Amino acid sequence: MSENAQNKLYTDEKLDTSVYKCPNCGGEAVFDAELQKMRCLYCDSTFEVKNEEKVTEKSIDDLLNNAKVWDEAEVYQCKTCGAKEILNKQEVAMTCPFCGTNNIVKTEELPGLKPQGVVPFKISKERAGRIATNWARRKFWAPNAFKKSASPEKLAGLYNPVFTFDAETSSTYDGQLGKNYTTVRYINGKPITEVHTRYFYIKGSKNVTFDDYIIQASSNLNTNTIKEISPFPTNDAPVYKTEYLRGYSANTYNKDGKQCWNECQNLMKYDIEKAILSKYDYDIKSYLNIKTAYLKQKYKFVLVPLYVGHCKYKNKLYNFFINGSTGKITGKTPVSGWKVFLAVLFGILLVGGIALIVNFFGN
Ligand SMILES: [Zn+2]
Ligand SMILES: [Zn+2]
Repeated sequence: MSENAQNKLYTDEKLDTSVYKCPNCGGEAVFDAELQKMRCLYCDSTFEVKNEEKVTEKSIDDLLNNAKVWDEAEVYQCKTCGAKEILNKQEVAMTCPFCGTNNIVKTEELPGLKPQGVVPFKISKERAGRIATNWARRKFWAPNAFKKSASPEKLAGLYNPVFTFDAETSSTYDGQLGKNYTTVRYINGKPITEVHTRYFYIKGSKNVTFDDYIIQASSNLNTNTIKEISPFPTNDAPVYKTEYLRGYSANTYNKDGKQCWNECQNLMKYDIEKAILSKYDYDIKSYLNIKTAYLKQKYKFVLVPLYVGHCKYKNKLYNFFINGSTGKITGKTPVSGWKVFLAVLFGILLVGGIALIVNFFGN
């Protein structure tokens, strides 16, 4: 690689809007997760992404009224599994990250909100592949076909849109709780234990602060999956730049801001109730009324990095996901009927064997 090309700043002015060309040779450059730089796929030159700014949070009013549209992106749909994705225009083989097929068509749909920030990939595909292979190896019940699917070539790097919400909450509450106690009575000398409940009223106030509460903004994936591989360093996310997306695809956004904020408030409500109840020693909740005021509500809309793996087993698609920043992995794995059958058989033989031995020595 040429020395003078290295560390040259990669600025917007030099760029075509759709293709990121290497200033050194004109080839295609992608974001390299390990180097945290742009890297040319042809001459291997590297370039800094000029970006010192960190993403800033905005008020909820902004989200509901004047959030920007991501007009430079295009939405594609996979005809095999139905997933909708945002793909790089110049991507040669457009492969669906969820099912691995090339049955992808462009749609007229708008990509929705423009991301404010991006948590860049930190883990390379090779490293993600090693994480997936080790993880699959430990899945005792999984069929061997599944274990083979965890190879790095089959993984796809995908940016996933999430909202993070901050809020200070102030709640007042009143309710009734019950605590159980037991008494012992003797009837004809025999002890009879009886359970009773003593009810008491509660009343008070509670403040709870939430920081970067993460809500999944694409229905291709559910919030629980994202939670399982959280945290993502969303507080340190740099401002959105297309450079970070080079070499990756992105998941579409199809739950709007209002819907995600409602979902978030419901989860916050649950956490507030848990925080209130944690102060009391009780067994039964008769009722609890909580009135909550939300203050300083802020949001940011960011892309977080994931590797998606897929395995088809008995005509069913199984996906697993790796946090592209930390390497945390989650996913459902198919269960091999044969392995379960053999294990049960082995168990029967083992129990039978022990019974025989016990029988033998017992006599
Ligand atoms: Zn080059
Ligand atoms: Zn698909």
